[in-house]
Amino acid sequence: MTDAQTDEDHPWTQSVDDILTYHDVSTDDGLSGGEVEHRRDQYGRNELRKTDRKPWWKILVEQFTGFIIILLGIAAIGALAIGETIEGISVVAVLVINGLVGFVTEMRARNSMESLQEMTQIETRVRRDGEDQEIPAEELVPGDVVILEAGDIVPADLRVIEPSRLQADESALTGESVPVGKTSEPLDADVPLAERSNMLYKGTYVTRGSVEAVVVSTGMDTELGKISQSLQEAAEEKTPLQEKLDSLGHKLVPFLLVVATIVLIAGWIRGQDLLLMVEEAIALAIATVPEGLPIVATLVLARGMWRMAERNALISDLASVETLGSTNIIATDKTGTLTENEMTVSRFELASGSVEVTGTGLDTEGSFRRGDPDVDGTDSPESDATLQLDEPQNHPLREALEVGVLCNNASVTGTDEGVETTGDPMEAALLIAGLKAGIDRESLLDSLPEAREVSFDPSVKMMATYHAKGDPSVATYHEEDGHYRVAVKGAPESVVESATRKVTDEGVADLSPEETDEWIAKADRMAADGLRVLALARKTVTDTEDDPYGDLELIGLVGMIDPPREEIKSTIQGCKDAGMRVVMVTGDHAGTAKNIARSVGIVDSDDAEVVEGSELDDPESLSDAEKERFEDASIFARVNPENKLDLIDLHQRAGSIVAMTGDGVNDSPALQKADIGVAMGKRGTQVAQEAADMILSDDNFESIYHAVREGRIIFGNIRKFVLYLMSCNLSELTTILLATLLAFPLPLLPLQILFLNVVTDIFPAFALGACEGGEDIMQRPPRDPDEPIMTRTNWTELGLYGLFISVSVVGAFAIAGGIYAGGLGSEAAVTVSFLTLAFAQLWHVFNMRELTSGILRNEVTENRYVWGALALSTLILIGATYLPGISLALSTAPIGLEGWAVVLGMSLLPLLGGQIERELRRHFGTPKLGTKLHALIFD
Ligand code: ATP
Repeated sequence: MTDAQTDEDHPWTQSVDDILTYHDVSTDDGLSGGEVEHRRDQYGRNELRKTDRKPWWKILVEQFTGFIIILLGIAAIGALAIGETIEGISVVAVLVINGLVGFVTEMRARNSMESLQEMTQIETRVRRDGEDQEIPAEELVPGDVVILEAGDIVPADLRVIEPSRLQADESALTGESVPVGKTSEPLDADVPLAERSNMLYKGTYVTRGSVEAVVVSTGMDTELGKISQSLQEAAEEKTPLQEKLDSLGHKLVPFLLVVATIVLIAGWIRGQDLLLMVEEAIALAIATVPEGLPIVATLVLARGMWRMAERNALISDLASVETLGSTNIIATDKTGTLTENEMTVSRFELASGSVEVTGTGLDTEGSFRRGDPDVDGTDSPESDATLQLDEPQNHPLREALEVGVLCNNASVTGTDEGVETTGDPMEAALLIAGLKAGIDRESLLDSLPEAREVSFDPSVKMMATYHAKGDPSVATYHEEDGHYRVAVKGAPESVVESATRKVTDEGVADLSPEETDEWIAKADRMAADGLRVLALARKTVTDTEDDPYGDLELIGLVGMIDPPREEIKSTIQGCKDAGMRVVMVTGDHAGTAKNIARSVGIVDSDDAEVVEGSELDDPESLSDAEKERFEDASIFARVNPENKLDLIDLHQRAGSIVAMTGDGVNDSPALQKADIGVAMGKRGTQVAQEAADMILSDDNFESIYHAVREGRIIFGNIRKFVLYLMSCNLSELTTILLATLLAFPLPLLPLQILFLNVVTDIFPAFALGACEGGEDIMQRPPRDPDEPIMTRTNWTELGLYGLFISVSVVGAFAIAGGIYAGGLGSEAAVTVSFLTLAFAQLWHVFNMRELTSGILRNEVTENRYVWGALALSTLILIGATYLPGISLALSTAPIGLEGWAVVLGMSLLPLLGGQIERELRRHFGTPKLGTKLHALIFD
């Protein structure tokens, strides 16, 4: 950079030339690659410091600071102090393994989350080495020239260089919710931030127009950076599910206290080793409080987010993954989500009749023929003669095409493979229609240079451009010098209502109220054929500030085809089967909306009701009957962004969980209000993407379906591993309790309990997190959002499993006591009960199948991770019995063939019991089975 000519801290005081000189950059070329590197070294990356990022060592330390872990540590020291060296070292080893597993899991979850977040990062357009390119916003450096347009997020603090009708929403920074206009004029040094009209600030966004601007500060040097510095460590937010899991982990504690007390007292009465009893109680405590549940859940959620990303749905936060599984209403827009968004002009309706246009897609070859589908209902052209546009009677058609080409922001460029379009596909279709008639936008603009554009405004549903007089040889129609021709296009009802005259073959004539109605009816008929309809009009003004929309001269209507997406019908059926309603919420005409809704299967009959957005305009005054009607309706047409907000509110009040799509700047409040805001990756603005919970990278409705499916699978998997881990833990408690009640010696030693929890049962639990979901996962209704992770049925099951396992283990212990000469309590007998419990827990993983899945083929048996986990845990258990070092620490002994036979036989019993329980419940239904059992026992 050159020496500062003016105050570096006040870029708004500098002129455009000075600021460019100061940053040593030209707007034509931008910075060079080498200079960018140099400046990045000097200023760092354009990112706000992640203040809440925990360092790895802190995560590691946290694994060892839990209350119970400390207790166990003290026990280990105690054991070492009284000379129980092996015992002490083993406890320490278990502690270390436990801590490391927790650490690795948490680090993996964190890394996974961070790289997911990177996928949703915003890209920005920058000019470097003379070329415009898209780069991640973090890579900007001071001096970079960026190009922004409406809907873009401002990626750093910028000084405006060349604005074009620029407005920005700065509410995030200034609290002012009305967008502010921007210029490039220098200002005084003491102008407050909210009034610096030549600056754009990071974190705000462009609502209108476009701009070239130069980066003046990045990262923590931006105004936003200065604010976030003062916010400091933001607390890490937990999702509702993680919070539920946190508390769930502690639900078994009261039971633990009872068992521990009984065990301690019984041991004391019988004069057993008190230290052993205390250790046993601590080991049980460790077993009962599964500290790792929330973090394993995070890992499962993050894995689900990855899988969704692979299927084109990027999710911005963990909580949304849960919400997806409960979604019961999907409110979707039409264009591009349900349809291809590849439009072709197929028909004009003029005062003199209809004109059919041939040629589809991006093909610029095509012809215009007279036809009157309105008369006989068929689309067959009246005459095969191709219309010659230079003949005077065809001037209205030529003018209609010209208005479509002039009042346009798209572009069509020729490439080797044909043509390429940019901008709104509807406008591109109008350009292509023009090309079919030999009308090219560039040459037309030479003849009629654009003097002003009034951008499309969704509330009036029209757009206009003003054109001065240029080269008279090109256009059909010119105003005199000092006059401007205004080209208007928009929704038929808006344009036709604003028209007082019409353009005919013979010239301009008045438009009677009856004719107005006829034109509206024509538009309705075109829409009912599924065409997207626009009306085209013109007028003459003497000043560019004159009103564009009053007193229009109507030229005609243009109809475009936008075919439904392939596969969309079956996806919508899939949503219905999954208990979700698909509601179309479109800005388009009611007729078009209905036709498309019918062809994609959102509604089944032609009498389906269409609600117009205007009916929602006053939500406070809706009667209950109206509310009900709107809740039941599946098609909403001519909807504006505020209507979307009210519609979401209506459904949410009725208890629904709503996913809503949106792509414009104005859609962001609705995207935020929806339970799942869905923005389009290709079509959507950056602001909509930032407000959304989910971004569809392919803009395709089908991706929402897959994301919901994934959401359901994830919740099911979390429930599986929670139920699995809790039943394993409970079974340890019940085993000890049962043995104590029977006045047996301890069937499991403290270290064995720790070993089971830390080494063996975590592998199957992790594996359960990767199940695919039952076959009927999308045939069930959505989960009730208030439904707890562990339902009442799950709690009952938990009790049953605890009972099954403890009876088997204590049974095995008793049998083993008989087999081995040492009787109950001998090392071999304890080894048998230890192994029976371990294997019973392993087989128990198969009890986690969905009620509706098959016994042999189900999502658990088909999960290869489950088999891998079982193989690994089995190996570890065999090692624990036969490897001298470990068996010494765990006090295990070889058990011989008959011992293994007992282990195998008894450990399979809980699996058998669990499967019988599932089958009974499947046949009789859960509540009925409950009543039957109740009757059996008590009547
Ligand atoms: P969807 O919700 O399915 O995307 P949409 O694109 O029709 O529907 P909006 O963008 O709100 O919804 O547009 C509403 C109406 O305004 C359109 O049906 C069309 O008649 C008119 N319109 C849309 N874009 C333009 C434009 N660029 N110029 C003029 N009129 C437009």
